[in-house]
Amino acid sequence: MWDASLEGQLSLLAEAARPVGRSGDTWTDRARRRLPEHLSALRGTKLYGNPDRYRRCVNDVNRLLARKGRGAGVSITLADYQDSRLSPLRSEDLLRAAREHESNPFVSVLAGRMEALVEEHAPDAVGVSLNYLSQALSAFAMIGLARDRFPRMVTVLGGGLVTSWLRQTGGRNPFTGLIDHCVAGPGEGFLLGLAGLSAGDEGFVRPDYGGFPAEGYLSPGAVLPYSASSGCHWRRCTFCPERAEGQRCRPVPEDQVQSDLRALVSHARPSLIHFLDSTMSPRLLEHLARRPPGAPWYGFTRVSSRLGEGDFCRALRDSGCVMLKLGIESGDQGVLDALEKGIRVDEASRALGALKEAGIGTYVYLLFGTPPEDADAAGRTLAFTAQHAGLIDYLNLAVFNLPAASEEAGRLKIRPFYEGDLSLYADFEHPSGWGRREVRGFLDRKFRRHPAVAPIMRRQPPFFTSNHAPFLLNFC
Ligand code: SF4
Repeated sequence: MWDASLEGQLSLLAEAARPVGRSGDTWTDRARRRLPEHLSALRGTKLYGNPDRYRRCVNDVNRLLARKGRGAGVSITLADYQDSRLSPLRSEDLLRAAREHESNPFVSVLAGRMEALVEEHAPDAVGVSLNYLSQALSAFAMIGLARDRFPRMVTVLGGGLVTSWLRQTGGRNPFTGLIDHCVAGPGEGFLLGLAGLSAGDEGFVRPDYGGFPAEGYLSPGAVLPYSASSGCHWRRCTFCPERAEGQRCRPVPEDQVQSDLRALVSHARPSLIHFLDSTMSPRLLEHLARRPPGAPWYGFTRVSSRLGEGDFCRALRDSGCVMLKLGIESGDQGVLDALEKGIRVDEASRALGALKEAGIGTYVYLLFGTPPEDADAAGRTLAFTAQHAGLIDYLNLAVFNLPAASEEAGRLKIRPFYEGDLSLYADFEHPSGWGRREVRGFLDRKFRRHPAVAPIMRRQPPFFTSNHAPFLLNFC
């Protein structure tokens, strides 16, 4: 196992900080000088107690990455990678990224390391896990490098993004000629099969993070990622790819969750557990409240009546819950009902109050521009947010993307619009004229500037967003 993302970023940063004379820009020179200090501060706890210093430190580190990217004609941040000539939504552009891998700045710093790893382990196959669009162009460049240097090595591509693509193509590999196998969903069985071994009973395999450099990540201590389920137990929200893709929910049995976490926590001694579930089920929350996992934890969940109960929230807090990410989406009941979100505005209000009282931080996700929303409904979401501003620690504001495979796409007027053959979303004509432009104008001119909302927006951790929020909260 090799975390090429981490190593690529750290290598680019090290190159960017190398003394090659003055850059001509005071801020960049300062960021260069301070890089070692910044990286070690991000890996310690003290920095998170000083939000202004934290922000300066993250922005300095990002400045160096961005400068490195500019030198190579691409845009790199701590959270994104963009190349104005290539789109990660077009299979032909991804294949081109593989062919022209030498122009990718990550490849230039990782090629030697890949060769050393292949020499050391002599693998028959290389598997690449691709989860985010921001990783796609560089992942393909790395695959292109592997193909070029080791043409006989079998290539396998999997991960969350690839799973969504394959659901869209009906399982067809869009990258034949470059990639031998694209795998949807959990890939353990496939990889065992490739090695000539039986996949067994299709049970969940306990993750093993032993091969990763826990001390290298930009966080205070190791953050342990763990999925207690795949898919979503609710799977009804009309706007959600979980419903559109029809993925079955498979919870890991509770006994296994417990034994996995016990083993992983005692081995890795994490400072935080990150539950990766699309939404942590009420059953899982009950289980964790009864049987704490042994380290502080956070994750995504739906609002439920249980979260409005003070005793239950206190039990969650005692079990180590430091923050919950909540998809409230709208402060308008009609919109929530039409989206089949299955929550009530008054329930969300009670949950925010009980969580605050118990000392659990909240990262609230709101969604604007959905088909049932109009300007008045969005105004009610603003009123709800302002009214609960004292109970909300962080906000994530999203503009609705229509999943191309959703039932709703069949009911709406779709606009001819070509983003790429791998795009998971479609453009549509909003039934009440509440389109993306209007929504963006509302968010920029009204929502973000509201005196009760603006301080929450300013708290948002740059680039790392919810990944660093629990650490910042710990000091509040
Ligand atoms: S609860 Fe969340 S993950 Fe589940 S369907 Fe709704 S939006 Fe999707």
